[in-house]
Amino acid sequence: MINNTIDILSYTKKELKALFQEIGEPAYRANQLFSWLHLKRVTTYDEMSNLPEKMRRWLRENAIFERPAVLRKQISKDGTEKYLLGFSDGNAVETVAMEYEHGVSLCISTQVGCRMGCAFCASTVNGLVRSLTASEMLMEVYESERQKGKKIDSVVLMGIGEPLDNLDAVVRFYEQITDEQGYGMKNRSVTVSTCGIAPKIYELADMHKQLTLSLSLHSAFSDKRSRIMPVNLKYPLPEVLEACKYYVNETGRRITFEYTVIHGTNDMDEDVNELVRIAGMMQSHVNVIPVNSAGRGNFSATRKDAEVFASKLNARGVNATVRRTLGEDISAACGQLRRETQQL
Ligand code: SAH
Repeated sequence: MINNTIDILSYTKKELKALFQEIGEPAYRANQLFSWLHLKRVTTYDEMSNLPEKMRRWLRENAIFERPAVLRKQISKDGTEKYLLGFSDGNAVETVAMEYEHGVSLCISTQVGCRMGCAFCASTVNGLVRSLTASEMLMEVYESERQKGKKIDSVVLMGIGEPLDNLDAVVRFYEQITDEQGYGMKNRSVTVSTCGIAPKIYELADMHKQLTLSLSLHSAFSDKRSRIMPVNLKYPLPEVLEACKYYVNETGRRITFEYTVIHGTNDMDEDVNELVRIAGMMQSHVNVIPVNSAGRGNFSATRKDAEVFASKLNARGVNATVRRTLGEDISAACGQLRRETQQL
């Protein structure tokens, strides 16, 4: 497409080559441009010193390549950094950089808002505004790296939005970020988290990618799950678990079950029993966290509640860990900052 809407960051190397062929430029120029964008990660065309001025002018006139604005930046006592990134249409999303022993992990958003309606989640309060493009997700990573001054080692798609409600852009993002001639992130260092859109899990499994799939489970009982996660009415738990099993079989990867403990709601002994059964259905790992009460609705749990729950699972032979809760002093749970600043 040759007009002023070429979304250049989202173009794969192959697509760049086709584009350059169309405008009569040699293929090696496409490799040079790809490397400026995704390996050297410059922020303007002016810096692309080995591209002729004529080509840079053409790019300036025909291709969009814009950094997001850092509307707010918060730094937690524990080193966690949170950015509110604004795009040119006025929309903003949150990105959180967390430091672990194994490097910096970045939690990125995949949509502006969300239409999944989970009862405890701040991101869904005003519904979905729009999905992000692959290049906007790439810019979340590249801009966070610049802010942080450190390479991002892994990415989790657990910020605002439902990644499988934006699957094409998410897969394109994954292809770009893992390109060895670009950012070169390891395949397995990208985690896609879903509330459980069963048909999309099959679609992803059939692509045979090595990314890590995480299911936000939150209850092992389908009826209870429907009460906190309306998506379960459309894709009931047994159907979602079948899709997860298929994913494990097709990709050879284990599934991560995210389990947000809501005290008195999903941390009873009956919940432990049923979760033990589910975890035994496929190769899996359970990540337990206490619900963040600054989300939506009137839910709470302490870290101790999460630890007790995880230890009951461990005692039954289930692979479960309590995730560190980082950035609590900067309201790092997804959706909070966007809501605060945009008065949603
Ligand atoms: N839509 C995707 C990814 C974004 S949500 C999904 O559902 O997986 C990322 C994770 O944060 C999910 O596991 C979600 O259930 C969880 N989450 C949302 N609000 C929360 C809150 N207030 N406390 C704890 N976890 C929350």
